[in-house]
Amino acid sequence: MLLREVEYARPATVEEAISLLSEHDGARALAGGQTLVNVMKARAASPDVLVDLADLDELRTISFSADQSSLEIGAMVTNTQLIASSEVEVARPILAEVAATIADVQIRNRGTIGGNVCVNDPTNHYPPLLVALGASFTIQGTAGERTVSADEFFLGVYLTAVAEGELLTRISVPTRRPGTGDGMAGVTLGAHGTYIASAAATVGPDGPRIALGCVSSVPVRATAMEESLAAGDYSEAAVRAAAQGLGETIDPPSDVHADAAYRRHLAEVSAVRAVLQAAERAKG
Ligand SMILES: Cc1cc2nc3c(=O)[nH]c(=O)nc-3n(C[C@H](O)[C@H](O)[C@H](O)COP(=O)(O)OP(=O)(O)OC[C@H]3O[C@@H](n4cnc5c(N)ncnc54)[C@H](O)[C@@H]3O)c2cc1C
Repeated sequence: MLLREVEYARPATVEEAISLLSEHDGARALAGGQTLVNVMKARAASPDVLVDLADLDELRTISFSADQSSLEIGAMVTNTQLIASSEVEVARPILAEVAATIADVQIRNRGTIGGNVCVNDPTNHYPPLLVALGASFTIQGTAGERTVSADEFFLGVYLTAVAEGELLTRISVPTRRPGTGDGMAGVTLGAHGTYIASAAATVGPDGPRIALGCVSSVPVRATAMEESLAAGDYSEAAVRAAAQGLGETIDPPSDVHADAAYRRHLAEVSAVRAVLQAAERAKG
């Protein structure tokens, strides 16, 4: 189906992009277009103005913060850039590992981490991962810049802390400290398909952070499991025991791929696998 007629702007600066987004009620940022163009074709979204972020080179960089404590990832960084980045390899290799499992080459080349989290499709890979990693998100608008934590960023499907007229500019991911390990596990539709259930985990000196995907409109922290593991015993028996009853704490949807009861089971299995993977990596 052809797109409805839409105005198109290609700003040269972030400030110009923000003023275009705030001046027009029906304006939408265009990143990789992998979701937005599809939903426009299906008439599920019908923006009046597309503000293409393609020329905003400052949103395409991956660097370290001045004190090296975090990896600063521009919103327009693609999955392919994450896979190839030496900074990611040193600071948080799980990001590259997960990026490499997303969909196909075209989607990895075009799709951006900013677009992925702004869509906040519950089956997407990055939302639970970034919650587990304790990432923070920098949002810029006409009033200036603000930073929100991953726990506050995701509000619902297609709904995040980025308000109308604002732009997500970068994602800050803490650099991996000694004794920290990350893991992600789940069940997908086919080898590189969409998740039916997923879990991401970080294990380190501050204890575990575990986030579940596909069980709600936003990533869900497995806080009871985190508390059970806080003493630092990551033996398989302890991790399995900590995951017992996790399914009862969530209210996942039923759909053609899995009913709620099966998703509860998959969430427990995924959480165990993600934590065991993270704990193994934390050793070395
Ligand atoms: C067939 C298919 C399969 C896929 N499978 C997976 C999968 O298994 N796992 C997975 O994680 N992802 C998957 N994706 C999603 C893909 O990885 C992209 O992340 C996603 O399509 C959006 O990224 P994008 O850069 O294309 O954003 P766009 O489609 O350009 O934008 C998406 C939305 O985010 C908004 N937006 C984008 N950037 C910003 C910004 N900087 N500030 C404010 N708002 C912004 C846009 O306005 C729009 O509303 C799949 C996509 C397709 C088409």
